[in-house]
Amino acid sequence: MSGRVVIVGGGPAGLTAAAALASSAEVLVLEREAETGGIPRHSDHPGFGLRDLHRFLSGPEYARRLTRTARDAGAELETEAMVTGWAGAQALEVTSPRGRRVVTADAIVLATGARERPRAARLIPGDRPDGVYTTGQLQNLVHLHHREVGTRAVVIGAELVSWSAVLTLREAGCRTVLMTTEHEKAVTFGVPVRPASRVVAIHGKRRVTAVDVEDRRTGERRRVPCDTVITTGDWIPDHELARTGGLDMDRGTRGPRVDTALRTSTPGVFAAGNLLHPVDTADVAALDGRHVARAVRAHLDGRTEPSAGLGLSVDPPLRWIAPQIFEPGGAAPARGRLLLRCDVFHRFPVVTALQDGLPIGVVRPPWPAAPGRVFRVPYSILRHADPRGGPVRLTVV
Ligand SMILES: Cc1cc2nc3c(=O)[nH]c(=O)nc-3n(C[C@H](O)[C@H](O)[C@H](O)COP(=O)(O)OP(=O)(O)OC[C@H]3O[C@@H](n4cnc5c(N)ncnc54)[C@H](O)[C@@H]3O)c2cc1C
Repeated sequence: MSGRVVIVGGGPAGLTAAAALASSAEVLVLEREAETGGIPRHSDHPGFGLRDLHRFLSGPEYARRLTRTARDAGAELETEAMVTGWAGAQALEVTSPRGRRVVTADAIVLATGARERPRAARLIPGDRPDGVYTTGQLQNLVHLHHREVGTRAVVIGAELVSWSAVLTLREAGCRTVLMTTEHEKAVTFGVPVRPASRVVAIHGKRRVTAVDVEDRRTGERRRVPCDTVITTGDWIPDHELARTGGLDMDRGTRGPRVDTALRTSTPGVFAAGNLLHPVDTADVAALDGRHVARAVRAHLDGRTEPSAGLGLSVDPPLRWIAPQIFEPGGAAPARGRLLLRCDVFHRFPVVTALQDGLPIGVVRPPWPAAPGRVFRVPYSILRHADPRGGPVRLTVV
């Protein structure tokens, strides 16, 4: 064993990193929930594991499989253990029903994921009735606690995760009467979707009775009767530990800044999964976990230099990029892809990389860039970057 690795977060990224590292290091995964598996534990529908396990599994099945693999590989998985802060550069404060303690490590991997912003954080005015949930809360209620929701729902958002909410509502016997999105375009799957619109008020004393929906182009408002409101998407990384640990943070993703090996600004502290790109699919988070294991091993073997390289940034309508640091000629990021978020729909996007004002690479991916989902760009776009040049910017038209 070459050292002790502590992984914070037992979701797909953390569990996959644990499985990859457990044969060569002592690995402890700290998970605040009663079970490991992360978000997929309560996403009880198929669609997990394609890229990492080459299987098409339900969320709970996927979570169980990743848990089993990490444990069989020799990782210790400690649940109900919440990391609440730092007690030094390589030491974490942990609180659990067994008490409080400090855990030290030779390497730390932050894999704390991302969460949806609840209603309060979105500042939606109106009454404060029962019946307003995020997708995560909805799926917890339905799949873990087998509780009833209402019969008529309005879903705020029309991203991939919003469709997951619609499926869960359907399973719970609740009809989605309307989906709203602030974007101009949205895919519909048999549910009415109102583009360029937003919910501007929630009504109801004890339980939701209606919402007011405003057309952003005309300002016209309409009242829609419903007893359930689901706020979906609008992700924020679970970045508290990264911030309190003093890691360099990225303004776009709001997660820690990392290089292509997933090293943060503090030597020996790494990050993986949706903490870095809120949010991509579970298999991409898991493959981050596999990718970060290489850098962790190199660190334990004393083979790494501090993270250095050229900065990567984006121009609007691109909102963020991950990773944010690369070394020309150095290691590629996970899956050889740069991950970006775009706020405007481009059916045939053309992405250009610029260094010192000059184009150094262009790609025309055959897939669209769409709001509400991660847009992936081949890393080869940076192959002509000059190591002595300035930072690189990516634009899309
Ligand atoms: C409703 C919904 C449906 C989805 N459907 C799909 C789908 O069909 N297919 C798909 O591929 N992806 C889907 N996804 C996305 C997928 O769930 C995520 O990409 C994946 O879970 C990200 O993995 P992660 O390990 O980065 O984070 P998470 O799964 O969020 O895991 C992070 C873990 O860290 C723990 N944690 C956080 N902070 C601390 C702390 N301080 N101390 C201890 N533990 C901590 C959390 O409890 C959590 O278990 C869906 C997501 C949602 C919300």
